[in-house]
Amino acid sequence: MKRLALLFFLFSVPLMAQTGNDELVEVRELIPDVRLDLRYATANNFTHQKLFSTNVCYLSLGAVKGLMAVQDSLRRAGLSLMIFDGYRPRAIQYLMFEILPNPVYVADPASGSKHNRGSAVDLTIVDASTGAAWDMGTDFDFFGNEAAHSYTNLSAKVLQNRQYFKSVMVNVGGFAAYDAEWWHYDYPAGASYPLLDFQMK
Ligand SMILES: [Zn+2]
Repeated sequence: MKRLALLFFLFSVPLMAQTGNDELVEVRELIPDVRLDLRYATANNFTHQKLFSTNVCYLSLGAVKGLMAVQDSLRRAGLSLMIFDGYRPRAIQYLMFEILPNPVYVADPASGSKHNRGSAVDLTIVDASTGAAWDMGTDFDFFGNEAAHSYTNLSAKVLQNRQYFKSVMVNVGGFAAYDAEWWHYDYPAGASYPLLDFQMK
C-alpha cells in the first residue's frame, strides 16, 4: 500500500509542478485508481445521445487536488470515487440546454456551467474492489425532488450514505455541495476559472 502511495506521488509531482490550478488535466493521470462511468460518453444519459467521443475525464488541476484528498481518505476505507462527468466543453452545454432548458439542472450556456470551467464534478462512492455503487436513492441525472439534499423522505441508509459522501467532499476535498443534485460538487476557487470549449479527442 505504501509503495502504491509513493507511485502516485512520483507520477503526480511533475505534472502538478508545471500546471496552473485553472488548467485542465486528465484526472486519471493524477488519481490512477479513480473509477469512471462517464455517462455522456455513452447514450445512457438524459439526452439519449453519445455526446463525448472519448472516455477520458478532464478537470482543472485545482479540482483534481481536492479529489486526490477525498480519494486518499476513501481508499483507506476500501472505497473509491466514481465520476459521471467532469469538464464539459461549452458547445456540449448549448446542446444540453436545448434539450433540457431548466437552469436548476442544466446551467444556461450563456453564462456557462462550472463544468465548462473544469471546476464541477458529478460523482458518487463505490466499493473499491467490486465497483458496486452506494445507494444514493436516485440515479445520476434524476431530475426531480428526490435527488435534492433537502429531500429527506428516503431510507435511513440512503440519508446516511449521502451525508457521509457530502462530509468527505466538503470537509476533506474542500468542495461545495449543490442542493438540487446529490452527485454534483463545485470547487469554489474554480468559479473564476475560464470557460473552455476544448474538445476531448
Ligand atoms: Zn454537475
